[in-house]
Amino acid sequence: MRVADRVLAYGGGWLDRAGALRGNREWISARLTDPGAVLLPLWRDHCLVTADQTPVRLRPADAAEVLTAADETVFLGLDGEAPVFAVDLSGRTAPEAVRLAGAAATADVRALVAWLDPAQAAVQAYARGLLHWHRQQRYCGSCGSATVARDGGHVRACSGPRCGRLLFPRIEPAIIVLVEAPGSPDRCLLARHAGAPEGAYSTLAGFVEVGESLEDAVRREMAEEAGVSLSALSYQGSQAWPFPAGLMVGFRATAASEEVRVDGVELLEARWFTRDELRRRAAEGRPLGRPDSIDHHLLGGWLAAGD
Ligand SMILES: [Zn+2]
Repeated sequence: MRVADRVLAYGGGWLDRAGALRGNREWISARLTDPGAVLLPLWRDHCLVTADQTPVRLRPADAAEVLTAADETVFLGLDGEAPVFAVDLSGRTAPEAVRLAGAAATADVRALVAWLDPAQAAVQAYARGLLHWHRQQRYCGSCGSATVARDGGHVRACSGPRCGRLLFPRIEPAIIVLVEAPGSPDRCLLARHAGAPEGAYSTLAGFVEVGESLEDAVRREMAEEAGVSLSALSYQGSQAWPFPAGLMVGFRATAASEEVRVDGVELLEARWFTRDELRRRAAEGRPLGRPDSIDHHLLGGWLAAGD
């Protein structure tokens, strides 16, 4: 089964983003006063959570103080009929944000994902990524003037008198690759990354550079980091990773030879693992990557393919 056919955390298209409507300021204002609207307060990349670790959801009737205190309020989309907004309280201290939201604490969505409903985790991650972009894009890179949010928070426009540049949310694509050995037995290549503890192996990954296709990036990264040239590669699926702006694009590839030569900088060690070895490691309590990551799904798919 391809990774794309399975549900990966933080994606899923749960909201209607209403791209054709959100440019209409009156329409957005009306959605914000809709009694059924849902407002998600966030603080500096963190959810504001109740005592039972559930992200706070406010109705407009309970959110006057939060909206007044917000640095930015952005429209995320429609959940059925209900408009959903994210409200950034990052300009406040953590205790202030917690009090304003009626929360108990702050928490990273990645620490909550194990028990959150998939839609809720995806929407919180989306809110986190979009608000992060707003905080990083308050000034125009061309003329240095302040920028102002519009289109429900999906564009920022430069306020400079002779500029007017439009800035759109940035996505930073990265490739992640499960490399298989040529020939038999079936084996896949895992590496220990710089900074990773002894014995912690994962698939190989890297950022796409300017002027590269995804496939170019896969071939370059595998050659640079592991000295592996590839004879074949195929797209497996992608994962939203807005921590802060990632898009992980998963591939499976076949190496042209078994020779591996790590760069010693990004990768300290890389070697081939059989399915039995990986199962043994998992049974010993050494997990195959973060359970919410495409890395884990690529490995899980490869293991299942051998059954
Ligand atoms: Zn400008």
